[in-house]
Amino acid sequence: MSYRKERKKKLMKMAKERDIHVITGKDRYCKNWQIEGILRMLCNVLDPDVAMDQEKLVVYGGTGKAARSWDALEATFETLPEMDGDDTLLIQSGRPVGVFKTSTHAPRMLMANSLIVPRWANWDYFWELEQKGLIMYGQMTAGSWNYIGHQGILQGTYGTYARAAKKHYGSDLRGKFLLSAGVGEMGSAQPLACVMNNGVGLFMEIDKDRMKKVKDHGYLDIIASDLEEGLEIVRKHKEQGMPISVGIHGNAATLYNELLEREISPDMVTDQTAAHDLLEGYYPEGYSKEEADELRERNPEKYVTEAKKTVVNHVKAMVGFKKKGSVVFEYGNGMRKQAEDAGYKNAFAFKGFVKKYIRPMFLEGRGPFRWTALTGNPEDIKKTDNVILDMFPENEMLVRWIHKAKEFVPWQGLPARVCWLGYGERARFGKKINEMVEDGKLSGPIWIGRDHLDCGSVASPTRETEGMKDGSDAVADWPILNALLNAISGATWVAVHEGGGVGIGLSTHAGMSIVCDGTKEMEKRILRVLTTDPGIGIVRHADAGYEKAVKTIHEENIRMPYLQHLKSKKEGT
Ligand code: NAD
Repeated sequence: MSYRKERKKKLMKMAKERDIHVITGKDRYCKNWQIEGILRMLCNVLDPDVAMDQEKLVVYGGTGKAARSWDALEATFETLPEMDGDDTLLIQSGRPVGVFKTSTHAPRMLMANSLIVPRWANWDYFWELEQKGLIMYGQMTAGSWNYIGHQGILQGTYGTYARAAKKHYGSDLRGKFLLSAGVGEMGSAQPLACVMNNGVGLFMEIDKDRMKKVKDHGYLDIIASDLEEGLEIVRKHKEQGMPISVGIHGNAATLYNELLEREISPDMVTDQTAAHDLLEGYYPEGYSKEEADELRERNPEKYVTEAKKTVVNHVKAMVGFKKKGSVVFEYGNGMRKQAEDAGYKNAFAFKGFVKKYIRPMFLEGRGPFRWTALTGNPEDIKKTDNVILDMFPENEMLVRWIHKAKEFVPWQGLPARVCWLGYGERARFGKKINEMVEDGKLSGPIWIGRDHLDCGSVASPTRETEGMKDGSDAVADWPILNALLNAISGATWVAVHEGGGVGIGLSTHAGMSIVCDGTKEMEKRILRVLTTDPGIGIVRHADAGYEKAVKTIHEENIRMPYLQHLKSKKEGT
């Protein structure tokens, strides 16, 4: 048997035995590193160390999946090793539906996940389609194979807490009491991010096993036996200004209301239960986890009705905390919209985290930049950590994060790093990585990608585009333009999704990936993509009238014909 056939057989064995794990080393299964990068990132998101539930192909975020079915996954594994350097694979909601000859400069893969015509775009219709096997929920980075485990959200959560603390307290979270809930795939970053910001955090979670797992992984310090004990630990640590994270077992809506009744006011309140999906991601009050799981199976309609009542109580409690003086924000799980839809009119009494803390960075094209060592060698990431510290020493937040990440973040799947970089910085750093691959300073190619939560890649009126200056919150042209632009600029793959973070019908967003294989061809593409991708983010915000974005447009010489036209008209030139 030829070497290639043998490799393919090995790959198919992995899929047939339902035992997907990361592929490492320099030997490829595919004909070039662009295609191999796709295969390795697919295996990475499904690795048991990374994925929430490999058997169900669920990566994170309630039911965010990497492939529609095991057959779809097997077909993808069969296809990738056969693809030539000028083939482009099409993925429709987690199923490989076509391969076309395009060009060597084009993306090797285009993906569309969970997109439904707007009038039909709601969970009920989605579930109907899902039952028929016609669609898959891709979340943001699950279906686009850009998920890198907890680090992505850890960095985002660390940064969000840091910015919130700076804005409200002029410091970090030392001596402050943070209340939150849900320590799932993404939410488990919260306790560690709180401690990394020197805060004292109390985290409610209905699933005992999950909470224990988070503690075992070192993301949560202790689990209190009940609310009383938890509050006592919080009180002591707050007084002493000592950071700690405490888990409490129970339903968040019930516990938040109990705290409110007892007149306990945390300094900061948020939540990261998967409330965007009331059937699969959120637990109703009055039931244990097991009872609720049984109800979901037996009577899903009743489950959703009960979950709706719960989310209303939950959000009401958060509004109550706000009235009592706590800093309250939604952390991107769509809970306010769910509560509003369930009849609570005052659900939007507190704001979302993007509007409050993240948008100023979007105005400079700053966003979540991530990369993995495709050969699986952690030394590559350590070397790139050092390079980033050398290249951007003036960026205090970045430098602090890289040092914290080195100390706190364990490897999970392919070794990875994430940090926020701005316009210009992304292209420069991407080029540098590609040069390091070319010069043999790294053991092999590096994948670069990002979260769909970025400056120009998402329309999500209750999250990333909440309260835009010009009211363009729900205009979904921008993520589509972002995907098209990245595709023609030469990304290795591009994805367009619906419903990530907040639920079906509530967001449209795009993902981007590029593989640095050390070639000159890729250098050109890296420079283009890592410029256009944040560039359209600045354009989007300048178009919406944000002065800082307009200033960045001028500083960076980004061409915006309509703005230019208005300016010339005004100046009479
Ligand atoms: P997940 O499904 O892995 O975890 C949700 C957790 O919440 C589970 O452990 C579940 O047991 C717990 N839970 C649910 N209902 C509860 C209740 N009423 N009381 C107590 N615990 C309850 O989801 P995840 O990946 O952790 O994502 C959580 C949410 O965050 C999602 O809505 C997701 O879309 C959103 N999200 C936000 C960001 C961001 O940048 N802020 C990023 C990714 C995801």
